[in-house]
Amino acid sequence: MEQKKRVLSAIQPTGEMHFGNYFGAVKNWVDLQQDYECVYGVVDYHAMTMPYQSKKLRENVWELLFNLLATGVKVENLFIQSLVPEHTELCWIFNCFTSYGQLTRMTQFKDKSQDSREKTGDDFISAGLLDYPVLQAADILIYKADFVPVGKDQEQHLELSRNIAQRFNNQVGKEYFVLPKSLYTEVPKVQSTADPSRKMSKSAGEKHYINVFADENRIRKQVRSAVTDAGDTPEGSMSAGVANLFSLLKASGKQAAYDALMQDYEANALKYVDLKQGVADALVEISTTFRNRKAELQADKKTVKEQIKASSAEIRKIAQETVKEVKDLVGLMNVRF
Ligand code: AMP
Repeated sequence: MEQKKRVLSAIQPTGEMHFGNYFGAVKNWVDLQQDYECVYGVVDYHAMTMPYQSKKLRENVWELLFNLLATGVKVENLFIQSLVPEHTELCWIFNCFTSYGQLTRMTQFKDKSQDSREKTGDDFISAGLLDYPVLQAADILIYKADFVPVGKDQEQHLELSRNIAQRFNNQVGKEYFVLPKSLYTEVPKVQSTADPSRKMSKSAGEKHYINVFADENRIRKQVRSAVTDAGDTPEGSMSAGVANLFSLLKASGKQAAYDALMQDYEANALKYVDLKQGVADALVEISTTFRNRKAELQADKKTVKEQIKASSAEIRKIAQETVKEVKDLVGLMNVRF
């Protein structure tokens, strides 16, 4: 049987999971498990690069893991980054093969520096934020991943990972690291239902995201109050709010309902209340399944946590092997030599 290609992806433990995260990233993780060997990290070292609360970090990590498991990510594919400290060791080694200038030019560094200033009101920007893409390169290369599912905003970081791998290979005179490729998948960009001109996100405030695990009433209320016509839509084109509701319906897999409502729209006979009803029903259906699964998992938290620790330990073996080989190649000491 042909060996499956390996996919690596990671997500930061930043609290609740909304439908933007689910349709834009997590659902893709679940689907990729069919055709690839998947390694998925909950990256808590990364979560320290922006202002954060130490007391909440561990809680957020477990919360995210339970959420991921409830949505269908397999336990054996998951690891917690800080249980694999080799990521930071490889990051240090990679720092020495990374151009400082290239890091300062990263779009996300500029954007996040700005966010951090706005959030805290001071000028403190951690060196960790600058170094973030180097740790990301270590996350990817430590597992010798063939593919990384990326959105457009991450392409620059993946390019940096390839540059680092190339510079490393040149240094050691060997094609040790295979250059990772991007894996493009069509994923919807979900907009805020309260303001369809901005993307669904937690940073914009509570009304701008719909929590995947929220109770039915809240989801229905948020969809019912979705903005449909903001008054700035050119004659004859679909407003951003209506387009977003259609997109949510499609992402939920309700193709037949989507087609029927789209036909109404094209015949100028669409009632927004019907569209909202369809979207609310679809989101509630997904949410109910996930909430039930999460409750089952939470009924025996201890076992689930043990499973995650075991899968992290198993995945760590790959990382340890890579770091050992890397240390040999760059001239560092290994205890076993
Ligand atoms: P974040 O917590 O914002 O870093 O997002 C985690 C993942 O969810 C990333 O892969 C994002 O691309 C994805 N994501 C976040 N918000 C949205 C959105 N509104 N629409 C689609 N994907 C999103």
